[in-house]
Amino acid sequence: MPEFGGVMPYEDVKKVWMNGRLVDFADAKVHSFSHTFHYGSAMFEGARLYKTRQGSAAFRLDDHIKRLYDSCKVYRMEVPYSQKEFRDAIFDVIRANGFDECYIRPVVYRGVGQLGVNPFHSPVEVLIAVWKWGRYLGDEALEGGVDVCVSSWNRMAPNTFPAMAKATGNYLNSALIKMEAITNGYTEGIALDNAGRISEGSGENIFIVYGGRILTPPLAGTILPGITRDSIMKLARDAGYTVVEQQIAREMLYIADEIFFTGTAAEITPIRSVDRITVGAGRRGPVTERVQKDFFAVIRGEVEDRHGWLTPLPVEAAVRA
Ligand code: PMP
Repeated sequence: MPEFGGVMPYEDVKKVWMNGRLVDFADAKVHSFSHTFHYGSAMFEGARLYKTRQGSAAFRLDDHIKRLYDSCKVYRMEVPYSQKEFRDAIFDVIRANGFDECYIRPVVYRGVGQLGVNPFHSPVEVLIAVWKWGRYLGDEALEGGVDVCVSSWNRMAPNTFPAMAKATGNYLNSALIKMEAITNGYTEGIALDNAGRISEGSGENIFIVYGGRILTPPLAGTILPGITRDSIMKLARDAGYTVVEQQIAREMLYIADEIFFTGTAAEITPIRSVDRITVGAGRRGPVTERVQKDFFAVIRGEVEDRHGWLTPLPVEAAVRA
């Protein structure tokens, strides 16, 4: 097993699901001649299994699987499993690792066939990795908020890379945004679209509270259709807020009452400053706090699952060695 600086990464991961089999972590390898490695031709997902009061449950798992299949469709990849088989495989690998909460990372990728840009001659393969992943932007961030900047890197323009597809290749753009932010002392960067309007973070959607309304950029070719984004729009409307999907000018970031990120990894993270300009009162605002509270109540199973978002980890799922 590889060691990095004397630390064994992912020590608690025992098994990875690869093309229909549960393989040991040490053997979960992808060949150097795989198309995906050379050309970024993989689609992936990030979902979470939460420990709820009623036992472990995955949050909006079928929606994540659907988005994965949609991403694959855009890139003309046929997933060799049904969505139901895919869900069973996810539960199998979770149980094989004995996790009661974890991050879930399915990847559909082009394997070994012919190297060359044309992906059609490389088979579509699947792996599902799961691991323990805490708070992406830090524990403090949920309450205290994070300091972010507007990135000098734009999000991809429509007609360049399809933003609705969660393709690994897109994340080179995300990495540029993230690296620039960190290098300059920020936690995260916000990318603008090619017309200079607000798009999203490197791995999060964004919401702005202004004049009593909650605004978020539309699905118009520069953002990922985030599942947390959709959940927050529903929860906020349930709570009586007006939520509007609209194009948003950059300067709204500087005059907003509240701003927060949403994402599976980041959950709901308040933003306390943008480009060193304080957002609102400089701490989590009341709207952010309310939607956070409602979101956490759902994922902890503390309230009725009105929208049918939790899929319990089935006890009968096979644990195959
Ligand atoms: N935008 C980008 C670029 C992302 O990588 C993510 C994380 N998947 C999101 C938004 C948030 O999406 P979700 O809420 O489905 O995790």
